Order: sequence, then C-alpha cells, then structure tokens
Amino acid sequence: MTTPIYDVVVIGGGIHGAGVAQATAAAGYSALLLERSGLASGTSSRSSKLIHGGLRYLESGQFGLVRESLREREILLRLAPELVRRVPFYIPVYACTRRGPWTIRAGLSLYALLGGLSRETRYETLPRTRWGTLDGLGTHGLQAVFCYQDAQTDDAALTRAVMRSAQALGATLCCPANFLSARQTRDGFRIHYLEGDKEILCHGKTLVNAAGPWVNAVLDRITPRSDTLLMELIQGTHILLAGETRNGVYYVEAPRDGRAVFVMPWKGNTLVGTTETPYHGDPAAVQPLPDEVEYLRETFHHYFPARHANPLSSFAGLRVLPHAAHGAFHRARETRLQTDTPHRPRLVSIYGGKLTGYRATAAKVVALLRHSLPSCPVRADTAQLPLTPEK
Ligand SMILES: Cc1cc2nc3c(=O)[nH]c(=O)nc-3n(C[C@H](O)[C@H](O)[C@H](O)COP(=O)(O)OP(=O)(O)OC[C@H]3O[C@@H](n4cnc5c(N)ncnc54)[C@H](O)[C@@H]3O)c2cc1C
Repeated sequence: MTTPIYDVVVIGGGIHGAGVAQATAAAGYSALLLERSGLASGTSSRSSKLIHGGLRYLESGQFGLVRESLREREILLRLAPELVRRVPFYIPVYACTRRGPWTIRAGLSLYALLGGLSRETRYETLPRTRWGTLDGLGTHGLQAVFCYQDAQTDDAALTRAVMRSAQALGATLCCPANFLSARQTRDGFRIHYLEGDKEILCHGKTLVNAAGPWVNAVLDRITPRSDTLLMELIQGTHILLAGETRNGVYYVEAPRDGRAVFVMPWKGNTLVGTTETPYHGDPAAVQPLPDEVEYLRETFHHYFPARHANPLSSFAGLRVLPHAAHGAFHRARETRLQTDTPHRPRLVSIYGGKLTGYRATAAKVVALLRHSLPSCPVRADTAQLPLTPEK
C-alpha cells in the first residue's frame, strides 16, 4: 500500500488545530488533522467562552493583542451569528473597588478606540434607576456601573463548526487518532499514529503541533528534537451555578486578591470564572481544586448576596503561558509560533493564544508553511466562510 501524503498534518483538534486545518484547506493544500480524544476535548471546551478583545490586557500594555482580538471578534460575529453573539458586559465600581471610575473610563475609552469607534464599541454609564434590574447585583457602596459590548460563544461548538468548514474544503479528520512519532526526512516527515489499535504511517510535507498543553510532549516525539519554549501551565477553574444571569456578563474584582472574575449567563445557568493556579501535573488530569471553587463561590456571593452559590458543576482548563518570575495575571497572552528553522520551516508549534484569535493565528501558521510548500490556487478566504452550528 502506498503511504498517503499530505501537505500539512495537524496534531490536535482544539480550536487552533481546527483553525489551521481550515486555513490550510482554504489555501488550497491537503490537510490531515489527528485528534486523540475528541474535538475540543482539551482547553477549547474549558474556556470562559468569550470572544473578546480582553479589556484587562490593556493593563499590561498588550495593545496589539487587544486590537487583533477585537478585529477577529467582529469577523466572527459576521461569520457565525448563531454561534457568536454580542452581549452587554457590566463593570460595577464600589467604594472599595481597586480600579476606580477614572481607570475604568480610561480603559473603556481605549478599548472603544482599538475596536474602531462604532456604535457597538461605545460604552455607557448606567443610570441609578437601572441598578435594580441587574440580576440581584449588590448596591451597597455601589458608585457606578459601566456597560460595554463584547461577545460570547460556545467554545466546543465553535471548534466543531470550524472543523466542519475545513472538511467541506477537503481536509481530513482522523479522530480518535493518537500521534505517536514523526521523523524528519528530506521532504517532510514520516508520521506514525494510532487509530484504534492500528498503527498508521503517513507522510506530511509539513507538520503543525497544535496540542495545546501537550505542545512540549508532542515535540518530544519529533526527531530531530527542535527547541522547546519554556512555558508554564496555569490552571483556570469555572463553577456553574443554578439560575441565569439574564442581563449579560458581569466583570467583577475578586474580594480576596482584586483579580478580574467574570459572572456569565450560560445555557440557563450562571458560569463564574476564572482562577489562575500554577499546574505541574499531567494535563489530562487537571481538576478544579476545592480552594478555587471556594474563591469563586465567595466572589459570586460578595456581589450577588441574595443568590444561591452552590455549584452544580465545575471544570478546569490549562493556559499555556511563557515562563516568568511574576504572576500569571500580567503575563503576555500573545500566541507564540515556534518553528524548527527560521527559513522555510516545516514544523510549527503553537504556544498559548486565545480562542478569539484562532483564525488570525491559523493564517500566520499557513503563511510560515507556504515557504516549504508548492504554490497552488487558493480555494477560499476564511474571513468569508460562514460557520454554522451542527443541526
Ligand atoms: C480557563 C481558561 C479560560 C479561557 N478563556 C478564554 C476566553 O474566554 N476567550 C478566549 O479567546 N480564550 C480563552 N482562553 C484561551 C483558549 O481557550 C485557548 O487558547 C484555546 O482553547 C487553546 O486551544 P488549542 O487548540 O491550542 O488547545 P486545546 O484545545 O487544548 O487542544 C489541544 C488538543 O490536542 C490534542 N492532543 C494532545 N496530544 C495529542 C496527540 N498525541 N495526538 C493527537 N491529539 C493530541 C488534545 O486531545 C486536545 O484536544 C481560555 C483558556 C483557559 C485555560
């Protein structure tokens, strides 16, 4: 039997892997995606499910990231109206809030500017008469409530929609399929993977490592070994509480340490997250910790004192962040693309990143790989391909 040959083999069926498969197929190349467990079974089903610029990244000066994410938000709102919807976000400011009204106002003005100053990017200060309509938000010591627009999605459904779009353009999905090893040859990689109990060999002219928290574990299986980036896994937990927060998303400061926490409507209930806890174990074993659940319960109860805060369920996901001495909150959230060589790379590894920016990241990956692939006619532009939920 002849060995199947693909222009691009992608390891990992999270949002980044699906995005790269779609961008590859749209660029006219053949693509195979290998996913070990299930599409979006990793971080891409455990995020805060926001399609947003990331207001808080302004505090750490990540303006480029915020601008790109806001641009991607608008594209996704257009391409996937059934999967990505605009939602009002509320920021309450109390007498004891660390970020005062002027800081919030400055942040929101910059956010609106980076978002392109349209009707949708404007923010407002809610009149006192509307405070009583805010899902039971405590009003003791409340000084102001700011309101602006961002967007929410179903992260796993979005990932599956992107993969379906890739398949419609000719990409092949192999799931469950466990990537075992790859060895570089003169013109690409000999790749072994396990489908059921059958070991399969294929040839990839190029290889994309989109294994999220397993990125370095996958690199360990590729010969010759290329440089890995020093990274840390930071666990983020969410809890699900009974009863919906109908008005939109609340952006509050955790009373314990001042970190930003979101309180969000989620399928008829309320999702509260997230935490930032260093993680050193097996990525597959990540679980919410009792103290994280308590931290989120305590934060919710502080702002919504009349509502029940007994979790129905909880989940945890892992952020891939660059290694640094300081805390996770201020660390760069930009995606880093590590290649096997600076010129004509054949291997690209994706470190970190955001759900919101997957399309832009995928475009950058394909632009890097193009140098090692023959030119071919483009099939589609991913900024014009509609994304629909499964029927
Ligand atoms: C708590 C938290 C909240 C977040 N909130 C947001 C948010 O609100 N908005 C936003 O834009 N971003 C958010 N992010 C970031 C975003 O969720 C991630 O950047 C994104 O989901 C990462 O996707 P990925 O495809 O890189 O990784 P993953 O989704 O983890 O996918 C990697 C895949 O690789 C597979 N894999 C691993 N090893 C193998 C192998 N050997 N063979 C085959 N397959 C393999 C895994 O099974 C997995 O499915 C959040 C992240 C966290 C942790």
